[in-house]
Amino acid sequence: MTTTDPYLPLELAQELFTDRFTQEFWDRCRNHELAFQKCTSCGTFRNPPVPVCHRCTSADYEWAAVSGEGRVYSFTIVTHPVAEFLQTTVPFNVSLVEFDDAPGVRLISNVVDAEPDELTIGMSVQLHWEDLDTGITLPRFKKA
Ligand SMILES: [Zn+2]
Repeated sequence: MTTTDPYLPLELAQELFTDRFTQEFWDRCRNHELAFQKCTSCGTFRNPPVPVCHRCTSADYEWAAVSGEGRVYSFTIVTHPVAEFLQTTVPFNVSLVEFDDAPGVRLISNVVDAEPDELTIGMSVQLHWEDLDTGITLPRFKKA
């Protein structure tokens, strides 16, 4: 694998299914800005983007950019290729990343430079952008 190869096959990211709440997240990713909805009434972060705060029910929010420094909250190693195009990709990790500057947010992603036996709960990771040929930019992570 070269450094320009995506972590997972492009078949997994052919197109985004967005709505009026998630479009902004992906537009910011395309500009290499990782940002999450933050309630302007109570300060609660929310991800994925939703119309109403789950804590105070306010519909008011802003987009708060984060540094991209995070920790692995949990992960799994996928070893079974559920689709033909994943035959040569397994094993790969699916990691849940949390952020000090966005409490409560956990983002499903991958740690692209970690072998399966290297991943640990709590390990530090750093945001790594993958600009795919499909026009989609994905927030992924590397070991910090
Ligand atoms: Zn709120």
